[in-house]
Amino acid sequence: MQIGKVVFPITTLGPGNRVGIWTQGCYRGCKGCSNPELQLLDSSKEISVSELISKIKDFPFDGVTISGGEPFIQIDQLYLLVKELTHLGVDDILIYSGFTKEELEARQDEKIFYILSNISVLIDSPFVLELVDDVPLRGSSNQRVWLFKDKYKDAYRRFLEEEKRVDIFEHQGWVHFIGIPGKDYQDVYKKYLEVKPKK
Ligand code: SF4
Repeated sequence: MQIGKVVFPITTLGPGNRVGIWTQGCYRGCKGCSNPELQLLDSSKEISVSELISKIKDFPFDGVTISGGEPFIQIDQLYLLVKELTHLGVDDILIYSGFTKEELEARQDEKIFYILSNISVLIDSPFVLELVDDVPLRGSSNQRVWLFKDKYKDAYRRFLEEEKRVDIFEHQGWVHFIGIPGKDYQDVYKKYLEVKPKK
């Protein structure tokens, strides 16, 4: 599976301390995409699902968030990842997709149905820069937050009422930007550019 990055802990893309997994590759090319470095597929980013699971399984996480890139263009591996996480007992899995839920369901693919039946949340639809709002978790107001599992609905509803925030931190000389900026995204990017890597 082509994976752009894996980060733990993240607290801005779902409740609790989460593992964030960003898949590599997306054909959509949304204007204002906050992860342009994840758009091109890149075979050097290939890692097997079992290696990925070994990398994350001992983290003390509350949930897993899978973003991208577009996770559903690697459907076989995404299916395996969700299946392995589910078998490990990971119950709170949030996935972002630029496809709508209806587009995914229309593919009539058993793997997609398995994923949608086992994750707790899907945030769907492409990012539209002109529709950026200040609701946490989503980038723009056309994106929908589908809460599938009753046991997590209250936690996600509370999270959706919080202020939108972004974590900015430095790791191994790179500045990482985790979360989805709101209408003040230009100030956030400015702050991001002002972070200087330590020598
Ligand atoms: S779907 Fe997401 S990763 Fe793909 S171009 Fe749009 S914002 Fe970027």
